[in-house]
Amino acid sequence: MTDPTDAETRLRARLAEVEERVVAQRRAVDGIVESARDSNADDEHDPEGATLAWERQQASALAAGAETERRELLAALDRVAAGTYGVCEVCGRPIPAARLEARPAATRCVEHAR
Ligand SMILES: [Zn+2]
Repeated sequence: MTDPTDAETRLRARLAEVEERVVAQRRAVDGIVESARDSNADDEHDPEGATLAWERQQASALAAGAETERRELLAALDRVAAGTYGVCEVCGRPIPAARLEARPAATRCVEHAR
């Protein structure tokens, strides 16, 4: 059985990291938007504008990824509170501790992982 206190500690530590990443990535997106505005870049005709658009797209994707992970971790903390953390949502069997260490927000056992 997974110790709920350990699980919560691990989830909160991971959440703190992810929240820093969300903030940093949002700042990166804003910074790129700023510099695009400063250089008066034209996405279609200015090669620098195209690069900035690509960079902005990459930074936005990273920000979105961090936000998704943040939501998953918050959902996992809800499951700790509800006493359902570490149980596969498909078969109801305990998710192996090693898997939860690697992926603290996992909702499924290895067999039922997407
Ligand atoms: Zn399962």
